[in-house]
Amino acid sequence: MDVFDLLERHEGLRLKPYCDRCGTELIPRPGSYICSCDPFDQKTGNITIGIGRNLSADGIVAYEARVLLGKDVTFARAHLTNWGFFNNLDEVRQAACIDLCCNVGRAGFDEFRDLIADLQAGEYQDAAASLRNSLADHEEPRRIDELATMLETGQWPAGAF
Ligand SMILES: [Zn+2]
Repeated sequence: MDVFDLLERHEGLRLKPYCDRCGTELIPRPGSYICSCDPFDQKTGNITIGIGRNLSADGIVAYEARVLLGKDVTFARAHLTNWGFFNNLDEVRQAACIDLCCNVGRAGFDEFRDLIADLQAGEYQDAAASLRNSLADHEEPRRIDELATMLETGQWPAGAF
């Protein structure tokens, strides 16, 4: 045993955010979270994850954020490789697809039938139009427009976002 084992023994390993006071997994609700703490008890717990990381007080550091992102990109890339078109795309168009897949989720990406058909056919103008059409009401319109332009042009975006 070492100090890491000792802490994991005492804190446990929790892969989803939980309340460190009552131990329940946190459920988001508008403006707050729901846990099992007594609502009439004025004490609150901390949002915690992993092996006792207090997200409320300490958050994560940039290095940790990039480790998480690396895993997300790896999962997205592995998923997209299941589609025949993906490996034939250039780096920029692959990146646009990975960004989109990370944004809408792997199952969400698979619902973009028109976009996928256009990419399979190598019709990049149509792919951009399909993306803009599918996500016309997206909460990040500039992001979608930038991804569509990347699919159209095969160029990295220029200038500040
Ligand atoms: Zn609680």
